[in-house]
Amino acid sequence: MEGREKNMISAQVVIVGGGIMGTAVARELSRYKLDVLLLEKEPEVGWGTTKANSGIVHGGFHEEEGTLKAKYCFPGNQMYPKLCEELDVCFVQNGILMVARTPEEMETVRLYYERGKKRGVRLELLSREELLQQEPNLNPEIAGALYAPEGGAVMPFELAAALMENAVQNGAKYKVDAEVTKAWYDEGSGKKYLETREEIICADYVVNAAGLFSDTLARMFGDDYFRICPRKGEEYIFDLSVKDVVKSTIFPVPGQLSKGILVIPTAAGNLMMGPTGDNIDDKEDLGTSQDGFDRVLEGARSLVPSLDPRKIIAQFAGVRAASDRGDFIVELSPHVPGLLHLSGIESPGLTAAPAIAADVPRLLAEAGLAIEPKENFQPRREGVVRFNTLSRTEQDELIRRDPSFGRIICRCESITEGEIVDAVRRGARTLDGIKFRARAGAGRCQGGFCQPLIAQILSRELGLPITEVTKAGPGSEVVTSKAKELYDQEVLEV
Ligand SMILES: Cc1cc2nc3c(=O)[nH]c(=O)nc-3n(C[C@H](O)[C@H](O)[C@H](O)COP(=O)(O)OP(=O)(O)OC[C@H]3O[C@@H](n4cnc5c(N)ncnc54)[C@H](O)[C@@H]3O)c2cc1C
Repeated sequence: MEGREKNMISAQVVIVGGGIMGTAVARELSRYKLDVLLLEKEPEVGWGTTKANSGIVHGGFHEEEGTLKAKYCFPGNQMYPKLCEELDVCFVQNGILMVARTPEEMETVRLYYERGKKRGVRLELLSREELLQQEPNLNPEIAGALYAPEGGAVMPFELAAALMENAVQNGAKYKVDAEVTKAWYDEGSGKKYLETREEIICADYVVNAAGLFSDTLARMFGDDYFRICPRKGEEYIFDLSVKDVVKSTIFPVPGQLSKGILVIPTAAGNLMMGPTGDNIDDKEDLGTSQDGFDRVLEGARSLVPSLDPRKIIAQFAGVRAASDRGDFIVELSPHVPGLLHLSGIESPGLTAAPAIAADVPRLLAEAGLAIEPKENFQPRREGVVRFNTLSRTEQDELIRRDPSFGRIICRCESITEGEIVDAVRRGARTLDGIKFRARAGAGRCQGGFCQPLIAQILSRELGLPITEVTKAGPGSEVVTSKAKELYDQEVLEV
Protein backbone atom coordinates (compact mmCIF):
# COMPACT_ATOMS: atom_id res chain seq x y z
CA MET A 1 0.00 0.00 0.00
CA GLU A 2 3.08 2.24 0.17
CA GLY A 3 2.75 5.34 -1.94
CA ARG A 4 -1.01 5.35 -2.28
CA GLU A 5 -3.70 6.90 -0.09
CA LYS A 6 -5.45 4.50 2.19
CA ASN A 7 -9.23 4.10 2.25
CA MET A 8 -10.90 5.78 5.19
CA ILE A 9 -13.80 3.91 6.76
CA SER A 10 -15.66 4.46 10.00
CA ALA A 11 -17.42 2.48 12.70
CA GLN A 12 -19.04 3.43 15.97
CA VAL A 13 -17.19 0.80 17.98
CA VAL A 14 -13.95 -0.82 16.83
CA ILE A 15 -12.69 -3.87 18.72
CA VAL A 16 -8.98 -4.59 18.27
CA GLY A 17 -8.23 -8.29 18.71
CA GLY A 18 -10.26 -11.35 17.75
CA GLY A 19 -9.43 -13.67 20.64
CA ILE A 20 -12.04 -15.00 23.03
CA MET A 21 -12.23 -11.55 24.60
CA GLY A 22 -12.75 -9.54 21.41
CA THR A 23 -15.17 -12.03 19.85
CA ALA A 24 -17.23 -12.23 23.08
CA VAL A 25 -17.42 -8.43 23.09
CA ALA A 26 -18.42 -8.38 19.41
CA ARG A 27 -21.28 -10.77 20.09
CA GLU A 28 -22.36 -8.85 23.18
CA LEU A 29 -22.38 -5.50 21.33
CA SER A 30 -24.29 -7.06 18.44
CA ARG A 31 -27.32 -7.19 20.80
CA TYR A 32 -27.55 -3.41 20.41
CA LYS A 33 -28.22 -1.00 17.55
CA LEU A 34 -24.55 -0.29 16.97
CA ASP A 35 -22.13 -0.34 14.10
CA VAL A 36 -19.39 -2.70 15.32
CA LEU A 37 -16.14 -3.67 13.55
CA LEU A 38 -13.54 -6.11 14.87
CA LEU A 39 -9.94 -6.01 13.56
CA GLU A 40 -7.70 -9.07 13.84
CA LYS A 41 -4.11 -9.21 12.66
CA GLU A 42 -4.00 -12.96 11.98
CA PRO A 43 -5.69 -14.73 9.00
CA GLU A 44 -8.49 -15.98 11.30
CA VAL A 45 -9.98 -15.10 14.66
CA GLY A 46 -8.90 -17.04 17.76
CA TRP A 47 -5.26 -17.47 16.78
CA GLY A 48 -3.66 -15.69 19.73
CA THR A 49 -3.56 -17.10 23.25
CA THR A 50 -7.12 -18.29 22.66
CA LYS A 51 -5.90 -21.17 20.50
CA ALA A 52 -3.20 -22.29 22.93
CA ASN A 53 -4.51 -22.88 26.42
CA SER A 54 -5.97 -25.61 28.65
CA GLY A 55 -9.59 -25.03 27.62
CA ILE A 56 -10.87 -25.27 31.18
CA VAL A 57 -13.97 -23.45 32.36
CA HIS A 58 -12.69 -22.80 35.85
CA GLY A 59 -14.79 -23.30 38.93
CA GLY A 60 -14.42 -19.76 40.32
CA PHE A 61 -12.87 -20.67 43.70
CA HIS A 62 -9.17 -20.11 42.90
CA GLU A 63 -9.16 -16.32 42.57
CA GLU A 64 -8.23 -14.06 45.44
CA GLU A 65 -11.08 -12.02 46.92
CA GLY A 66 -11.23 -8.40 45.76
CA THR A 67 -9.60 -9.02 42.36
CA LEU A 68 -11.22 -8.57 38.96
CA LYS A 69 -10.36 -12.20 38.31
CA ALA A 70 -12.66 -13.12 41.21
CA LYS A 71 -15.31 -10.65 40.05
CA TYR A 72 -15.58 -12.17 36.58
CA CYS A 73 -14.51 -15.83 36.84
CA PHE A 74 -17.43 -17.39 38.69
CA PRO A 75 -20.10 -15.39 36.78
CA GLY A 76 -18.32 -16.46 33.56
CA ASN A 77 -18.46 -20.10 34.68
CA GLN A 78 -22.20 -19.75 35.29
CA MET A 79 -22.76 -18.30 31.80
CA TYR A 80 -21.04 -21.14 29.95
CA PRO A 81 -23.81 -23.78 29.73
CA LYS A 82 -26.33 -21.36 28.15
CA LEU A 83 -23.74 -19.67 25.95
CA CYS A 84 -22.49 -22.96 24.51
CA GLU A 85 -26.03 -24.24 24.06
CA GLU A 86 -27.01 -21.09 22.14
CA LEU A 87 -23.93 -21.22 19.94
CA ASP A 88 -24.11 -25.00 19.56
CA VAL A 89 -20.50 -25.57 20.60
CA CYS A 90 -19.13 -28.37 22.71
CA PHE A 91 -19.15 -27.83 26.50
CA VAL A 92 -18.38 -30.72 28.80
CA GLN A 93 -19.24 -30.19 32.45
CA ASN A 94 -16.84 -32.79 33.81
CA GLY A 95 -16.01 -31.09 37.11
CA ILE A 96 -12.75 -29.95 38.69
CA LEU A 97 -10.82 -31.61 41.49
CA MET A 98 -8.18 -29.76 43.50
CA VAL A 99 -6.28 -32.57 45.16
CA ALA A 100 -4.12 -32.43 48.28
CA ARG A 101 -1.01 -34.60 48.22
CA THR A 102 -0.38 -34.23 51.97
CA PRO A 103 -2.48 -33.48 55.11
CA GLU A 104 -0.89 -29.97 55.14
CA GLU A 105 -2.10 -29.36 51.58
CA MET A 106 -5.56 -30.50 52.70
CA GLU A 107 -5.61 -27.51 55.07
CA THR A 108 -4.99 -25.19 52.08
CA VAL A 109 -7.70 -27.01 50.13
CA ARG A 110 -10.14 -26.20 52.97
CA LEU A 111 -9.29 -22.49 52.60
CA TYR A 112 -10.21 -22.63 48.90
CA TYR A 113 -13.42 -24.41 49.90
CA GLU A 114 -14.33 -21.55 52.27
CA ARG A 115 -13.38 -18.92 49.65
CA GLY A 116 -15.50 -20.56 46.95
CA LYS A 117 -18.47 -21.18 49.25
CA LYS A 118 -18.63 -17.45 50.08
CA ARG A 119 -18.97 -16.74 46.34
CA GLY A 120 -21.74 -19.28 45.91
CA VAL A 121 -19.63 -21.89 44.06
CA ARG A 122 -21.03 -25.43 44.41
CA LEU A 123 -18.25 -27.33 46.18
CA GLU A 124 -17.69 -30.55 48.10
CA LEU A 125 -14.78 -31.75 50.20
CA LEU A 126 -13.88 -35.37 49.44
CA SER A 127 -11.98 -37.79 51.67
CA ARG A 128 -9.23 -39.96 50.20
CA GLU A 129 -11.63 -42.93 49.92
CA GLU A 130 -14.38 -40.90 48.24
CA LEU A 131 -11.86 -39.40 45.86
CA LEU A 132 -10.37 -42.73 44.82
CA GLN A 133 -13.82 -44.14 44.27
CA GLN A 134 -14.57 -41.24 41.90
CA GLU A 135 -11.13 -41.26 40.22
CA PRO A 136 -9.47 -44.68 40.74
CA ASN A 137 -6.37 -43.78 38.68
CA LEU A 138 -5.24 -40.95 40.96
CA ASN A 139 -2.12 -41.34 43.08
CA PRO A 140 -3.27 -43.53 46.03
CA GLU A 141 -1.16 -41.41 48.43
CA ILE A 142 -3.46 -38.43 47.90
CA ALA A 143 -5.00 -37.02 51.11
CA GLY A 144 -8.31 -35.67 49.79
CA ALA A 145 -9.75 -33.08 47.46
CA LEU A 146 -12.07 -30.22 46.73
CA TYR A 147 -14.66 -31.04 44.05
CA ALA A 148 -16.31 -28.35 41.91
CA PRO A 149 -18.93 -30.15 39.76
CA GLU A 150 -19.68 -27.03 37.68
CA GLY A 151 -16.15 -26.78 36.25
CA GLY A 152 -15.90 -27.86 32.63
CA ALA A 153 -14.07 -27.85 29.33
CA VAL A 154 -14.57 -26.21 25.95
CA MET A 155 -12.68 -25.97 22.67
CA PRO A 156 -11.65 -22.31 22.95
CA PHE A 157 -10.99 -21.87 19.26
CA GLU A 158 -14.37 -23.32 18.33
CA LEU A 159 -16.03 -20.95 20.79
CA ALA A 160 -14.23 -17.83 19.49
CA ALA A 161 -15.16 -18.70 15.90
CA ALA A 162 -18.78 -19.32 16.94
CA LEU A 163 -18.98 -16.03 18.87
CA MET A 164 -17.73 -14.16 15.80
CA GLU A 165 -20.12 -16.00 13.49
CA ASN A 166 -23.07 -15.16 15.72
CA ALA A 167 -21.97 -11.52 16.03
CA VAL A 168 -21.84 -11.32 12.21
CA GLN A 169 -25.30 -12.94 12.00
CA ASN A 170 -26.42 -10.00 14.15
CA GLY A 171 -24.80 -7.31 12.04
CA ALA A 172 -21.24 -6.95 13.38
CA LYS A 173 -18.37 -6.92 10.87
CA TYR A 174 -14.82 -8.20 11.12
CA LYS A 175 -11.62 -8.01 9.15
CA VAL A 176 -8.73 -10.45 9.35
CA ASP A 177 -5.14 -9.75 8.21
CA ALA A 178 -5.87 -6.32 9.66
CA GLU A 179 -3.09 -5.47 12.09
CA VAL A 180 -3.41 -2.07 13.71
CA THR A 181 0.03 -0.56 13.28
CA LYS A 182 -0.75 3.03 14.25
CA ALA A 183 -3.47 4.60 16.35
CA TRP A 184 -4.19 8.12 17.57
CA TYR A 185 -6.77 10.27 19.24
CA ASP A 186 -8.03 13.54 17.79
CA GLU A 187 -8.96 15.71 20.73
CA GLY A 188 -10.93 18.21 18.62
CA SER A 189 -13.41 15.69 17.20
CA GLY A 190 -13.13 13.10 19.95
CA LYS A 191 -12.56 10.50 17.21
CA LYS A 192 -10.04 7.71 17.43
CA TYR A 193 -8.12 6.55 14.36
CA LEU A 194 -6.63 3.13 13.70
CA GLU A 195 -4.39 2.38 10.76
CA THR A 196 -4.00 -1.02 9.13
CA ARG A 197 -2.13 -2.06 5.98
CA GLU A 198 -5.16 -1.28 3.83
CA GLU A 199 -7.20 1.33 5.66
CA ILE A 200 -7.62 4.04 8.23
CA ILE A 201 -10.58 3.40 10.48
CA CYS A 202 -12.25 6.26 12.30
CA ALA A 203 -14.00 5.17 15.50
CA ASP A 204 -16.12 6.77 18.20
CA TYR A 205 -15.22 4.05 20.69
CA VAL A 206 -12.36 1.55 20.76
CA VAL A 207 -12.20 -1.67 22.75
CA ASN A 208 -8.62 -2.81 23.26
CA ALA A 209 -8.74 -6.62 23.34
CA ALA A 210 -5.31 -7.11 21.76
CA GLY A 211 -4.15 -9.69 24.33
CA LEU A 212 -0.35 -9.86 24.60
CA PHE A 213 -0.12 -6.65 22.57
CA SER A 214 -2.78 -4.69 24.45
CA ASP A 215 -0.06 -2.62 26.14
CA THR A 216 1.44 -1.81 22.71
CA LEU A 217 -1.97 -0.66 21.43
CA ALA A 218 -2.57 1.37 24.60
CA ARG A 219 0.80 3.08 24.07
CA MET A 220 -0.17 4.00 20.50
CA PHE A 221 -2.94 6.10 22.07
CA GLY A 222 -0.52 7.51 24.66
CA ASP A 223 -1.65 5.27 27.54
CA ASP A 224 1.64 4.14 29.01
CA TYR A 225 0.57 3.15 32.49
CA PHE A 226 0.47 -0.68 32.35
CA ARG A 227 2.63 -3.45 30.97
CA ILE A 228 2.09 -7.01 29.79
CA CYS A 229 4.59 -9.44 31.36
CA PRO A 230 4.36 -12.59 29.20
CA ARG A 231 4.24 -15.96 30.95
CA LYS A 232 4.58 -19.13 28.93
CA GLY A 233 2.79 -22.43 29.45
CA GLU A 234 3.77 -25.68 27.74
CA GLU A 235 1.11 -28.37 27.25
CA TYR A 236 1.33 -32.01 26.07
CA ILE A 237 -1.53 -33.92 24.41
CA PHE A 238 -2.08 -37.69 24.55
CA ASP A 239 -3.76 -39.76 21.87
CA LEU A 240 -7.32 -40.93 22.30
CA SER A 241 -6.29 -44.30 23.80
CA VAL A 242 -5.52 -42.46 27.09
CA LYS A 243 -8.95 -40.89 27.13
CA ASP A 244 -10.61 -42.39 30.19
CA VAL A 245 -7.81 -42.23 32.76
CA VAL A 246 -9.58 -39.44 34.66
CA LYS A 247 -13.05 -37.92 34.28
CA SER A 248 -12.55 -34.52 35.95
CA THR A 249 -9.78 -31.97 35.48
CA ILE A 250 -7.21 -32.61 38.18
CA PHE A 251 -5.50 -29.61 39.81
CA PRO A 252 -2.83 -29.72 42.49
CA VAL A 253 -2.77 -27.08 45.23
CA PRO A 254 -1.58 -23.96 43.34
CA GLY A 255 1.93 -22.53 43.39
CA GLN A 256 3.03 -18.88 43.45
CA LEU A 257 2.91 -18.17 39.71
CA SER A 258 0.23 -20.46 38.36
CA LYS A 259 -2.38 -23.03 39.23
CA GLY A 260 0.25 -25.75 38.84
CA ILE A 261 0.56 -28.72 36.48
CA LEU A 262 -2.83 -30.24 35.71
CA VAL A 263 -4.21 -33.37 34.12
CA ILE A 264 -6.89 -32.20 31.73
CA PRO A 265 -9.56 -34.18 29.88
CA THR A 266 -10.17 -31.81 26.95
CA ALA A 267 -13.55 -31.15 25.33
CA ALA A 268 -12.19 -32.80 22.18
CA GLY A 269 -11.74 -36.06 24.11
CA ASN A 270 -7.94 -36.16 24.36
CA LEU A 271 -6.15 -36.05 27.69
CA MET A 272 -3.63 -33.23 28.12
CA MET A 273 -1.07 -32.35 30.79
CA GLY A 274 0.39 -28.95 31.61
CA PRO A 275 0.90 -26.07 31.63
CA THR A 276 4.22 -24.75 32.87
CA GLY A 277 4.27 -21.13 34.10
CA ASP A 278 7.50 -19.39 33.11
CA ASN A 279 8.08 -15.64 32.86
CA ILE A 280 9.65 -14.87 29.47
CA ASP A 281 10.75 -11.77 27.55
CA ASP A 282 9.53 -12.59 24.07
CA LYS A 283 5.72 -12.47 23.70
CA GLU A 284 5.97 -14.62 20.57
CA ASP A 285 8.09 -17.41 22.05
CA LEU A 286 5.90 -20.47 21.50
CA GLY A 287 8.65 -23.10 21.75
CA THR A 288 8.45 -26.16 23.96
CA SER A 289 11.48 -27.61 25.75
CA GLN A 290 12.86 -30.79 27.28
CA ASP A 291 12.97 -29.04 30.65
CA GLY A 292 9.34 -27.98 30.34
CA PHE A 293 8.35 -31.51 29.35
CA ASP A 294 10.21 -33.03 32.32
CA ARG A 295 8.51 -30.68 34.77
CA VAL A 296 5.09 -31.28 33.25
CA LEU A 297 5.50 -35.06 33.29
CA GLU A 298 6.72 -35.06 36.89
CA GLY A 299 3.88 -32.80 38.04
CA ALA A 300 1.22 -34.73 36.15
CA ARG A 301 2.50 -38.10 37.35
CA SER A 302 2.40 -36.94 40.96
CA LEU A 303 -1.38 -36.78 40.39
CA VAL A 304 -1.88 -39.66 37.92
CA PRO A 305 1.14 -42.03 38.10
CA SER A 306 0.16 -44.22 35.13
CA LEU A 307 0.56 -41.49 32.45
CA ASP A 308 2.67 -42.91 29.62
CA PRO A 309 4.74 -40.33 27.69
CA ARG A 310 4.90 -42.65 24.66
CA LYS A 311 1.24 -41.85 24.06
CA ILE A 312 1.90 -38.12 23.55
CA ILE A 313 0.98 -36.99 20.02
CA ALA A 314 1.40 -33.22 20.14
CA GLN A 315 2.73 -30.38 22.22
CA PHE A 316 2.35 -26.63 22.16
CA ALA A 317 2.97 -23.54 24.22
CA GLY A 318 0.71 -20.57 24.87
CA VAL A 319 1.68 -17.25 26.40
CA ARG A 320 -0.39 -15.65 29.15
CA ALA A 321 -0.85 -11.89 28.87
CA ALA A 322 -0.25 -11.23 32.57
CA SER A 323 -0.40 -7.55 33.53
CA ASP A 324 2.06 -5.84 35.85
CA ARG A 325 -0.87 -5.48 38.30
CA GLY A 326 -1.23 -9.26 38.58
CA ASP A 327 -4.91 -8.82 37.72
CA PHE A 328 -7.18 -8.20 34.75
CA ILE A 329 -7.39 -4.60 33.55
CA VAL A 330 -11.01 -3.77 32.65
CA GLU A 331 -11.25 -0.01 32.56
CA LEU A 332 -11.80 3.10 30.49
CA SER A 333 -8.64 4.97 29.65
CA PRO A 334 -8.04 7.84 32.06
CA HIS A 335 -6.63 9.90 29.15
CA VAL A 336 -8.52 8.99 25.97
CA PRO A 337 -12.31 9.29 26.20
CA GLY A 338 -14.09 6.28 24.71
CA LEU A 339 -11.09 3.93 24.83
CA LEU A 340 -11.74 0.78 26.86
CA HIS A 341 -8.87 -1.49 27.89
CA LEU A 342 -9.53 -5.21 28.35
CA SER A 343 -5.96 -6.12 29.10
CA GLY A 344 -4.00 -8.51 31.29
CA ILE A 345 -6.60 -11.18 30.47
CA GLU A 346 -4.48 -14.10 31.61
CA SER A 347 -5.93 -17.26 33.17
CA PRO A 348 -8.86 -17.56 33.98
CA GLY A 349 -9.56 -15.27 31.02
CA LEU A 350 -11.25 -17.89 28.89
CA THR A 351 -13.72 -18.55 31.71
CA ALA A 352 -14.19 -14.89 32.58
CA ALA A 353 -14.49 -13.55 29.00
CA PRO A 354 -18.31 -13.89 28.68
CA ALA A 355 -18.79 -12.07 32.01
CA ILE A 356 -16.31 -9.32 31.13
CA ALA A 357 -18.00 -8.93 27.74
CA ALA A 358 -21.40 -8.63 29.40
CA ASP A 359 -20.02 -5.63 31.34
CA VAL A 360 -18.75 -3.84 28.22
CA PRO A 361 -22.05 -2.18 27.16
CA ARG A 362 -22.31 -0.65 30.66
CA LEU A 363 -18.70 0.59 30.53
CA LEU A 364 -19.11 2.10 27.06
CA ALA A 365 -22.41 3.69 28.10
CA GLU A 366 -20.50 5.28 31.00
CA ALA A 367 -18.22 6.78 28.36
CA GLY A 368 -21.25 8.21 26.54
CA LEU A 369 -22.25 5.51 24.04
CA ALA A 370 -26.01 5.34 23.45
CA ILE A 371 -27.05 1.75 23.95
CA GLU A 372 -30.36 0.61 22.47
CA PRO A 373 -31.20 -3.11 22.31
CA LYS A 374 -32.15 -4.68 18.97
CA GLU A 375 -35.56 -6.32 18.94
CA ASN A 376 -34.37 -9.01 16.56
CA PHE A 377 -31.08 -10.15 18.16
CA GLN A 378 -30.64 -13.83 17.26
CA PRO A 379 -28.69 -15.62 20.03
CA ARG A 380 -28.65 -18.97 18.25
CA ARG A 381 -26.12 -20.13 15.73
CA GLU A 382 -26.30 -23.29 13.69
CA GLY A 383 -23.51 -25.58 14.90
CA VAL A 384 -21.19 -27.61 12.71
CA VAL A 385 -21.83 -31.24 11.81
CA ARG A 386 -19.52 -33.68 13.63
CA PHE A 387 -19.94 -36.70 11.39
CA ASN A 388 -18.37 -39.19 13.80
CA THR A 389 -20.86 -38.27 16.55
CA LEU A 390 -23.93 -39.07 14.41
CA SER A 391 -25.86 -42.34 14.47
CA ARG A 392 -25.55 -44.67 11.48
CA THR A 393 -28.99 -43.62 10.22
CA GLU A 394 -28.13 -39.92 10.53
CA GLN A 395 -24.84 -40.50 8.69
CA ASP A 396 -26.61 -42.33 5.84
CA GLU A 397 -29.19 -39.57 5.54
CA LEU A 398 -26.48 -36.88 5.48
CA ILE A 399 -24.48 -38.69 2.79
CA ARG A 400 -27.61 -39.07 0.70
CA ARG A 401 -28.13 -35.29 0.87
CA ASP A 402 -24.45 -34.42 0.37
CA PRO A 403 -22.07 -37.16 -0.80
CA SER A 404 -19.03 -35.17 0.38
CA PHE A 405 -19.89 -36.37 3.91
CA GLY A 406 -19.24 -39.88 2.63
CA ARG A 407 -15.56 -39.17 1.96
CA ILE A 408 -13.32 -39.51 5.01
CA ILE A 409 -10.30 -37.20 4.64
CA CYS A 410 -8.74 -37.36 8.12
CA ARG A 411 -8.59 -41.02 9.04
CA CYS A 412 -7.38 -40.58 12.62
CA GLU A 413 -10.32 -38.39 13.64
CA SER A 414 -12.79 -39.61 10.96
CA ILE A 415 -13.36 -36.14 9.51
CA THR A 416 -15.21 -35.95 6.21
CA GLU A 417 -14.75 -33.70 3.20
CA GLY A 418 -18.17 -32.18 3.96
CA GLU A 419 -16.93 -30.97 7.37
CA ILE A 420 -13.81 -29.44 5.82
CA VAL A 421 -15.81 -27.63 3.15
CA ASP A 422 -18.16 -26.32 5.86
CA ALA A 423 -15.16 -25.03 7.86
CA VAL A 424 -13.94 -23.14 4.78
CA ARG A 425 -17.38 -21.63 4.26
CA ARG A 426 -17.34 -20.46 7.87
CA GLY A 427 -13.98 -18.71 7.54
CA ALA A 428 -11.11 -21.25 7.61
CA ARG A 429 -8.42 -20.20 5.13
CA THR A 430 -5.43 -22.28 6.17
CA LEU A 431 -4.49 -25.83 7.17
CA ASP A 432 -4.31 -24.75 10.81
CA GLY A 433 -7.73 -23.15 10.50
CA ILE A 434 -9.13 -26.48 9.26
CA LYS A 435 -7.39 -28.31 12.08
CA PHE A 436 -8.78 -26.00 14.76
CA ARG A 437 -12.29 -25.84 13.36
CA ALA A 438 -12.89 -29.33 11.96
CA ARG A 439 -10.13 -31.26 13.82
CA ALA A 440 -8.85 -32.65 10.51
CA GLY A 441 -5.13 -33.26 11.12
CA ALA A 442 -5.45 -33.18 14.92
CA GLY A 443 -5.19 -36.95 15.44
CA ARG A 444 -2.41 -39.45 15.93
CA CYS A 445 -0.66 -38.78 12.57
CA GLN A 446 -0.97 -34.99 13.02
CA GLY A 447 -1.89 -34.45 9.38
CA GLY A 448 0.83 -36.73 7.93
CA PHE A 449 -1.73 -38.50 5.71
CA CYS A 450 -4.49 -35.95 5.19
CA GLN A 451 -2.62 -32.66 4.77
CA PRO A 452 -2.16 -32.90 0.97
CA LEU A 453 -5.84 -33.71 0.52
CA ILE A 454 -6.91 -30.83 2.76
CA ALA A 455 -4.59 -28.49 0.84
CA GLN A 456 -6.34 -29.52 -2.38
CA ILE A 457 -9.77 -28.90 -0.87
CA LEU A 458 -8.66 -25.47 0.38
CA SER A 459 -7.25 -24.64 -3.04
CA ARG A 460 -10.49 -25.67 -4.75
CA GLU A 461 -12.87 -23.98 -2.29
CA LEU A 462 -10.92 -20.73 -2.00
CA GLY A 463 -10.07 -20.58 -5.70
CA LEU A 464 -6.36 -20.32 -4.85
CA PRO A 465 -3.46 -21.93 -6.71
CA ILE A 466 -2.17 -24.83 -4.57
CA THR A 467 1.13 -22.97 -4.16
CA GLU A 468 -0.72 -20.27 -2.22
CA VAL A 469 -2.29 -22.61 0.32
CA THR A 470 -0.60 -22.05 3.67
CA LYS A 471 -0.33 -23.73 7.03
CA ALA A 472 -0.87 -20.52 8.97
CA GLY A 473 -0.75 -17.52 6.64
CA PRO A 474 1.86 -16.01 4.29
CA GLY A 475 5.32 -17.51 4.69
CA SER A 476 4.02 -20.98 5.54
CA GLU A 477 3.12 -22.17 2.02
CA VAL A 478 3.02 -25.97 1.91
CA VAL A 479 3.60 -26.69 -1.79
CA THR A 480 6.60 -25.22 -3.59
CA SER A 481 6.29 -24.18 -7.24
CA LYS A 482 8.73 -27.00 -8.13
CA ALA A 483 6.47 -29.57 -6.44
CA LYS A 484 3.47 -28.06 -8.24
CA GLU A 485 5.29 -28.41 -11.59
CA LEU A 486 5.98 -32.10 -10.90
CA TYR A 487 2.41 -32.58 -9.73
CA ASP A 488 1.04 -30.99 -12.94
CA GLN A 489 3.30 -33.25 -15.00
CA GLU A 490 1.90 -36.18 -12.99
CA VAL A 491 5.39 -37.04 -11.73
CA LEU A 492 4.16 -36.38 -8.18
CA GLU A 493 0.94 -37.83 -6.89
CA VAL A 494 -1.16 -36.81 -3.87
C1 LIG B 1 -0.97 -22.14 28.72
C2 LIG B 1 -2.25 -21.41 29.03
C3 LIG B 1 -3.31 -22.09 29.61
C4 LIG B 1 -4.49 -21.41 29.91
N1 LIG B 1 -5.55 -22.12 30.37
C5 LIG B 1 -6.71 -21.49 30.62
C6 LIG B 1 -7.84 -22.23 31.05
O1 LIG B 1 -7.80 -23.44 31.12
N2 LIG B 1 -8.96 -21.55 31.36
C7 LIG B 1 -9.04 -20.20 31.29
O2 LIG B 1 -10.08 -19.64 31.66
N3 LIG B 1 -8.01 -19.46 30.80
C8 LIG B 1 -6.86 -20.08 30.46
N4 LIG B 1 -5.80 -19.38 29.96
C9 LIG B 1 -5.97 -17.95 29.69
C10 LIG B 1 -6.73 -17.71 28.38
O3 LIG B 1 -6.19 -18.48 27.34
C11 LIG B 1 -6.66 -16.23 28.04
O4 LIG B 1 -7.12 -15.50 29.15
C12 LIG B 1 -7.50 -15.86 26.83
O5 LIG B 1 -7.27 -16.70 25.74
C13 LIG B 1 -7.17 -14.42 26.45
O6 LIG B 1 -7.96 -14.06 25.36
P1 LIG B 1 -7.74 -12.66 24.65
O7 LIG B 1 -8.80 -12.53 23.65
O8 LIG B 1 -7.60 -11.60 25.68
O9 LIG B 1 -6.30 -12.77 23.98
P2 LIG B 1 -5.87 -13.44 22.59
O10 LIG B 1 -6.53 -14.73 22.36
O11 LIG B 1 -4.39 -13.42 22.54
O12 LIG B 1 -6.46 -12.42 21.53
C14 LIG B 1 -5.87 -11.19 21.23
C15 LIG B 1 -5.93 -11.01 19.74
O13 LIG B 1 -5.48 -9.72 19.38
C16 LIG B 1 -4.82 -9.81 18.15
N5 LIG B 1 -3.98 -8.62 18.04
C17 LIG B 1 -2.93 -8.27 18.81
N6 LIG B 1 -2.41 -7.09 18.42
C18 LIG B 1 -3.18 -6.67 17.38
C19 LIG B 1 -3.15 -5.53 16.54
N7 LIG B 1 -2.24 -4.57 16.69
N8 LIG B 1 -4.08 -5.43 15.54
C20 LIG B 1 -5.02 -6.39 15.36
N9 LIG B 1 -5.08 -7.51 16.14
C21 LIG B 1 -4.18 -7.64 17.13
C22 LIG B 1 -4.04 -11.11 18.27
O14 LIG B 1 -3.66 -11.63 17.02
C23 LIG B 1 -5.04 -12.00 19.01
O15 LIG B 1 -5.82 -12.78 18.14
C24 LIG B 1 -4.60 -20.02 29.65
C25 LIG B 1 -3.53 -19.35 29.05
C26 LIG B 1 -2.37 -20.04 28.72
C27 LIG B 1 -1.26 -19.33 28.03
